[in-house]
Amino acid sequence: MIQKMRGTLDIMPEETPIFSYIEKVARSVCERYGYKEIRTPTFEATELFARGVGSTSDVVQKEMYTFEDREGRSLTLRPEGTAGVARAMIEHGRCGGVLPEKLFYFINCFRYEAPQAGRSREFFQFGTEMFGAAGPHADATVIALAHDVIKELGIEAELHINSIGCPNCRPAHRDALKTYFADYEDKLCDTCKGRLKTNPMRVLDCKSPICGEIANGAPRTLDYLCDECDEHFKTLTADLDAMGIKYKINPRLVRGLDYYTKTVFEFICPGIGAQSTVCGGGRYDGLISELGGPTLPAAGFAMGITRLVLALEQCGAKIPEVKTPDLYIAPLGADAAKHAVTLTHGLRKLGIFAECDIMGRSLKSQMKYADKIGAKNTLIIGSGELESGKANLRNMSNGEQREVSFANAEELAAELKA
Ligand code: ATP
Ligand code: MG
Repeated sequence: MIQKMRGTLDIMPEETPIFSYIEKVARSVCERYGYKEIRTPTFEATELFARGVGSTSDVVQKEMYTFEDREGRSLTLRPEGTAGVARAMIEHGRCGGVLPEKLFYFINCFRYEAPQAGRSREFFQFGTEMFGAAGPHADATVIALAHDVIKELGIEAELHINSIGCPNCRPAHRDALKTYFADYEDKLCDTCKGRLKTNPMRVLDCKSPICGEIANGAPRTLDYLCDECDEHFKTLTADLDAMGIKYKINPRLVRGLDYYTKTVFEFICPGIGAQSTVCGGGRYDGLISELGGPTLPAAGFAMGITRLVLALEQCGAKIPEVKTPDLYIAPLGADAAKHAVTLTHGLRKLGIFAECDIMGRSLKSQMKYADKIGAKNTLIIGSGELESGKANLRNMSNGEQREVSFANAEELAAELKA
């Protein structure tokens, strides 16, 4: 028996409606915000992620699915969506185009992680990117978009925000962190001992309780912001206040990817377990130039779709019901079966959800099946009905019957709509 690979998901027909529903809601909110859909490749040159996501990030250091193709090139299955979209912006010469460019996507992502609830090796993201707008109103708009998607889904989540500054103000904070953590070095977890050298800011959001306690007393990024970053953060929070979007300032929020500058944010849904971050985002003004493009500010976020599913189930939000057939046609005998297939095809062409027997079942088991699939009406066609061109249309919810003509699909369709 061949089984799916560890950490991958089969999303079965019972679960796909909730995924489609999330996509539909996200899409409709994006449209209102003027975002357009983009689709980029599933695999890219490894170099793109090494530079775009950042070589010190956990994702690049230990989570990437990297392989050599037949020509010996190093390729990587995308661990996230932003780097590929940024590459496409540069490659298609859109950095000097009509700005801001606002884009959204639904993608599968791949990370070599320990699978658990809310964490898999192939997972799904809904993400957005906004290119070209540098000011805080852009950040507020990006956060408002994420907020509206979550609200519209009916999910209860807390918004946490922080500013991690820019290349001007970060070095001073980095030094302060190094000095502070030096006193606790032997108490930190092994990962954080390494982070101390490569990226001390990452110690701040370590999930280990001991590192967390130490990090609580660490120098805050907010206290080291330059005037520009400070002003940016103040305007952003004022915008959120004015829009009535509630948030918590979380000084330990720093985000895992290296390309962030200034604003970082997460939406957290504590009820869904240990993996409670349903959305992560922020500003990444250095990314496009890092990838060889011009200087172009950017901001966006990504939501983990499987975590949104958990959150939706947890808070009991209403998901639209799956459609059931308007009509099930039950033929008796070979001639009727032939007629039923053509009639069903005709009804489907007219936009009606129709089914008929294609299993050669007895009438009794056809009726059982019609009930199982939730058919709203049934029509039994035997030899007598074939001759007269008339049969009884039975409403399955109230048992009412009326004689209808099924000589052609149009007439029957009109009867069904009546
Ligand atoms: P985490 O701290 O949970 O590992 P992250 O910082 O690595 O998150 P991002 O790269 O910001 O996550 O991805 C954005 C969102 O994608 C996350 O907030 C989460 O909802 C989702 N996500 C990330 N990794 C996974 C995964 N392995 N399985 C399922 N969802 C994931
Ligand atoms: Mg992660």
